[in-house]
Amino acid sequence: MPNPPSPFKLVSAALYQARHPLQATTYDRWRAFLKRLEDYRGTLDPIADQSANLDVLLRAVEENIEEELALQGDLKNDTAGFQLHLHLSRLWVLGTYEFLRTLHIQIKQHSHPAAACMRETNSKGCGEATCACCAIGHIKNETALVRMVLAKNEKANDVCNPPLTDAMRIKIESDPPANPPPASKFLCDGEGQMGGIMAWYVYDKRVSRHRVISRLDLSERVLNGLNGVEVISAQ
Ligand SMILES: [Zn+2]
Repeated sequence: MPNPPSPFKLVSAALYQARHPLQATTYDRWRAFLKRLEDYRGTLDPIADQSANLDVLLRAVEENIEEELALQGDLKNDTAGFQLHLHLSRLWVLGTYEFLRTLHIQIKQHSHPAAACMRETNSKGCGEATCACCAIGHIKNETALVRMVLAKNEKANDVCNPPLTDAMRIKIESDPPANPPPASKFLCDGEGQMGGIMAWYVYDKRVSRHRVISRLDLSERVLNGLNGVEVISAQ
């Protein structure tokens, strides 16, 4: 009987497959996003690169889970796979928060070329989506809402800087639903925020309400976080 392939080789194969071709577009979007972050940071951040790879892998897994659910109606024959997906999703949130947090600290320094708004607002931030410093602050805060629950089992308190614009507030307030979904709902391909299989129920202090944030939606918010922001280099 042949030896089974090693876990290391299996992971390499899974990542290779995830990048080509189904998730190739996502990977390209990550490359462009990481290049923007590298310009702001002045150096490459290996943690950001790892988060990109993990996101591509998780999206491929999430597609597989949706197919499995469509075929079987449940995941009772693959609970180990679902547990691993849950664990890797948590690691993705923690890693993504960390590279956004360290970049936000760096870009907030008044000497940084993108920190004009910090100098003008006494370090509070203007909050505008077109401001690089605040745009990175916003996606850091969105990630912090989930990260605090996963890492500390606490509500996120440090998310009010930069302030939300009225348009952002209205968009978040219109997000469905405000009630915790039953556990089974987390396994539905569902609508809106529930898409993406893995989702978390968190309290958002900025709008004084609970929200359901799916991993896929959070990933999209991060990837779209710099849309419309002027390109400014740290060099
Ligand atoms: Zn700003």
